[in-house]
Amino acid sequence: MLNSDVENQMSGFIRKTVQVMNSTNFDDTVINNQYKLTLKNVDMLSKKFFPPCMQHLNKKLKDNNHLKHEGRRQLWLFFKGCGMDANENVTYFQKHFASKVSNSDLKSHIYNIQHAYGLVGKKQPERPKNCRNIITGPAPKKDEHHGCPFIHWKKEDLKEYLKRNYEIS
Ligand code: SF4
Repeated sequence: MLNSDVENQMSGFIRKTVQVMNSTNFDDTVINNQYKLTLKNVDMLSKKFFPPCMQHLNKKLKDNNHLKHEGRRQLWLFFKGCGMDANENVTYFQKHFASKVSNSDLKSHIYNIQHAYGLVGKKQPERPKNCRNIITGPAPKKDEHHGCPFIHWKKEDLKEYLKRNYEIS
């Protein structure tokens, strides 16, 4: 449990992260903020402060122990943008994926996360997807959960989701 001062700072931090994701000059210094997304705070923060696209992906990851390609990339790059350390990002996805995917697929997912941090391959860190990338990218098909709820969901589903999870009617 975080106290309310830290909660306020974290909510500001995540808001800033979303702003930074969407700025033309992505600034990695945001991830040097002392309040980072970690294995310990990710679930609490997801419920209270993640934007709907990321909250929904995180919930589906936990419910299904799986996310398809676009969803995985959208979420783990967002975690990176919120300052989650590469090892924690790997641990989080490994924990949720392990029961559903083969060892070789798991290895490949781990490699892709490390690649996003610039730790392997060409060693060029990838920046989180911004709203424009998400909105103009491929729309989610059956059993896919990526995308932007404000664009890709039916109006009634979005209303219900916002009411249930953000108390917005
Ligand atoms: S993609 Fe949509 S839900 Fe996600 S942060 Fe952007 S506007 Fe919000």
